Amino acid sequence: MPKPSFDQAGLFSDAARRAAFFRETLPDRRQRPLADYGEMLRSLAAPTPETGLPADEVIGALDEQMQPGLHAMAGRRFFGWVIGASHPVGVAADWLASAWGQNAGNHQASPAAAATETVAAGWLLDLLGLPREASVGFVTGATVANFVCLAAARSEVLRRVGWDVEARGLFGAPPIKVVIGDDAHTTVFSALQLLGLGHDRVVRVATDTQGRIEAEAFAVALKASEGPAIAVLQAGQINTGASDPFRRLMPFAHRHGAWIHVDGAFGLWARASAQTAEQVAGVEEADSWATDGHKWLQTPYDSGYAIIRDSQAHRRAMTAAASYLPEVAAGERDPSHFVPELSRRARGFPSWAMIRHLGRAGIAAMIERHCALARRIAQALESEPGISILNQVCLNQIAVRFGSELPVAEGDTLTQAVIARLQADGTCFAGGARWRDRAIMRLSVISWQTDTTDADATVAAILSAWRACRG
Ligand SMILES: *Cc1c(COP(=O)(O)O)cnc(C)c1O
Repeated sequence: MPKPSFDQAGLFSDAARRAAFFRETLPDRRQRPLADYGEMLRSLAAPTPETGLPADEVIGALDEQMQPGLHAMAGRRFFGWVIGASHPVGVAADWLASAWGQNAGNHQASPAAAATETVAAGWLLDLLGLPREASVGFVTGATVANFVCLAAARSEVLRRVGWDVEARGLFGAPPIKVVIGDDAHTTVFSALQLLGLGHDRVVRVATDTQGRIEAEAFAVALKASEGPAIAVLQAGQINTGASDPFRRLMPFAHRHGAWIHVDGAFGLWARASAQTAEQVAGVEEADSWATDGHKWLQTPYDSGYAIIRDSQAHRRAMTAAASYLPEVAAGERDPSHFVPELSRRARGFPSWAMIRHLGRAGIAAMIERHCALARRIAQALESEPGISILNQVCLNQIAVRFGSELPVAEGDTLTQAVIARLQADGTCFAGGARWRDRAIMRLSVISWQTDTTDADATVAAILSAWRACRG
């Protein structure tokens, strides 16, 4: 066997040593990148290499050159967007997935990858309390999960009226009515756009102060529909954490034979704790669910799950007909039947490892801790004059408004100034968003490591930024 021209074990250990150093020093780093995109581009710009560089030097250069442009996303005081903290167990499993070099395309090629997905899929359905007959596609994130689920929805609602969308496409097909909440996530609209359903060709339904679909408006939106229909609901609104009232909405959708899809990128995980499960009660009656591994389950990027009750519709929408691929025996699951890709990384390994590591109890405890910390931060901020919390903190999301007694424009300026000041300080990271035509600071408590000390340090940093800006 030809030996590689370098020491593999040395290379891997060096990468591991560098990774461990990064993680260990993460709490002491500024919780923001030190270099911006332009600076990184300037420092990396180089002509195409004509000759090679030794392996250890490549990895050393990568590690050293990237440091200034890295964001502390895996940090314990990172509250930006909704970003899980790449748990070390998931990272280690992901390294093995890469080291093993498994193409997860089919179960003959990598029995280990395929079987791990089958088992992890069963665990996910159990943890999330979803029908055991549902099929699960391991995708890059909720964006693609929404796409896969809505592709299956499109396939099934058209099949019921005698139209084969996989074979014939959408030209000449009966129209599909798409009903969606006004505060749905932008990626659902991207999925509709990719599927030829159009991001504007939808019936938008009014929502309440927390972004939850209004039942009456939903009933009206579906009322006139007789043909194929898809209703898109949401578990976990990005600014408020609130979920649609599934129990109330489901009967209307069922009555009209609409396919019900739920975008539950992080919010579906409310199912995994007895304390929050009630918020998403009835969600199990839907036809499809999109959720993420790289948010609340803490897997490294990238990891999302497309979960579909009707596995026939799932397979029909995703299966590529290729003669050289092995036939799957009845009851066997081929990973590629449930995702758009053929060749891809073996995402089942980190998902399996995270569920195995945390267990049902550990996942529930983590979710409960995050929700408790979110309430703690919100209460502390709210007790300060001039700061208000714009959402009911029911889950892990907090929408903070500064200068709440001021006219909207002044409050917007002040809120943005506090965010900029907080980010420059670097004790913690929170980003900005808009909610109900107002600028807000949004915090998402979603790192496995965040504890009360971090929450209190975060409150102190935010208050200090607020006092400095308030003048
Ligand atoms: C994060 C999120 C998405 C998109 O998920 P990705 O993992 O970024 O692809 C979709 N919907 C909601 C509600 C989200 O929070």
